[in-house]
Amino acid sequence: MENGLQSSTIALLCCDIGKTDDDHRVSISPLITKEGSGKVLVSFNPITLFNPITTPMTLQNYDPAIANSLQAELDRQREGLEMIPSENFVSPAVLEALGSIATNKYSEGYPGKRYYGGCENIDVIEQLAIDRAKKIFGAQHVNVQPLSGAPANIAAYEALLEHGDTILGMDLSHGGHLTHGHPVTQSSKIYNFVRYKTDAQGLIDLDNLRAMAIEHKPKLILVGYSAYSREIDYAGIKQIANEVGALTMADMAHIAGLIAGGQMNNPVPIFDLVTTTTHKTLRGPRGGMILCKAKHAKAVNKAVFPGLQGGPHENVIAAKAVAFKEALEPEFKIYAAQIKKNAKILEQEFLARDYKLMFGGTDNHLLLIDVTNKGLSGKEADHALDAAGITVNKNMIPDDPRSPMDPSGIRLGTPAITTRGMKEDEMKIIAGWIDEAIINWQNPKKLANIRASVKELTKKFPLYRELKY
Ligand code: PLP
Repeated sequence: MENGLQSSTIALLCCDIGKTDDDHRVSISPLITKEGSGKVLVSFNPITLFNPITTPMTLQNYDPAIANSLQAELDRQREGLEMIPSENFVSPAVLEALGSIATNKYSEGYPGKRYYGGCENIDVIEQLAIDRAKKIFGAQHVNVQPLSGAPANIAAYEALLEHGDTILGMDLSHGGHLTHGHPVTQSSKIYNFVRYKTDAQGLIDLDNLRAMAIEHKPKLILVGYSAYSREIDYAGIKQIANEVGALTMADMAHIAGLIAGGQMNNPVPIFDLVTTTTHKTLRGPRGGMILCKAKHAKAVNKAVFPGLQGGPHENVIAAKAVAFKEALEPEFKIYAAQIKKNAKILEQEFLARDYKLMFGGTDNHLLLIDVTNKGLSGKEADHALDAAGITVNKNMIPDDPRSPMDPSGIRLGTPAITTRGMKEDEMKIIAGWIDEAIINWQNPKKLANIRASVKELTKKFPLYRELKY
């Protein structure tokens, strides 16, 4: 016994950093050794350090570098105005499920049909997530395992298409998403993407879409966007798809919460397949989901696992289930309605200040604004607003003459600040600050003053009151 512990429990791992064996792997030899042997010591006590029962350790205690960064991030979230339209604040219950012991469990397969033992509780969790999602959106089949929105889209293509098939999807600069066939993605190399655009009024012209569908004979028509701010006519698009024998897919990642809250058209009962993220307006954990007609269920499940992924992240699925329960509450409708009301106020305030709103305005939670007439680029506006404590993102506008890293526009939205409880009065104040920051984008003192005002306002809308790292 040494220091009251068995000698084996104070074994130190000793590794010759830089030396590799014949397979070019780093050699790690566990030795019972003492410091000063000339080797780089990695202090490693297999029992006391990694036994969560005998050694309860807080994050702050064990890894202050990470804890302090998390605390700094919490302070940033608390003290700023989060206006990136794809971000939100999950509830403490969602956070708790996300940080739960469900992360320890392997459960490849689906409820009732797993490749691992001990899945009886996980099955309950995953089935609850599925059932709640079905109820929210009126879906015949749901797969809650996609790790995020991008893998959900890849799995959806694999489920519905053969390689080489044609997909008609929206151009990225007009509001589409990278995963809808941008040349930098793997999907664009596997499928033949043809891109439609919004018209001069900034709307989706169904006559043009029909003409393109007749010309290109797509196997799939894809709608659903990242920066488009208008309502979508799913029934009209479905009719075009029927005329040309195409399948239909919607990516409702951005607006799933608005649909769940009954504030926007729901593609799920109309389209063959719908993908979504669960972390934007839906206000769940970072993750993805596929909803589809029963006839596509088998192909979708196969495409997700084993087609694309391994073991599902059941802690995330537990958190999805909690978020779905929240989305089924009557209060969620009020939340979704307020997101839209807040975005409408911003629209009016910006129009009154001569801002150029893409697509003419908004029917959802976001605004895409061309800032060129204000004498700066999207990147410069993004930086100025950051300095003022208001987080937005630089964004391409339709047919942007500038580059993606320094585009003409900014994209901003209301889901996160609405979660904090901000309403019409705050929107008017915030629009004024955004305008002031853009006009004074080269004046650090003015930006710092706005930041101080932002901090004062956010104190009235506390975030994660009990949380501390
Ligand atoms: N689809 C749309 C419409 C999106 O806006 C996004 C992300 O912004 C994605 C898919 C991809 O989601 P993720 O970042 O979770 O992979």
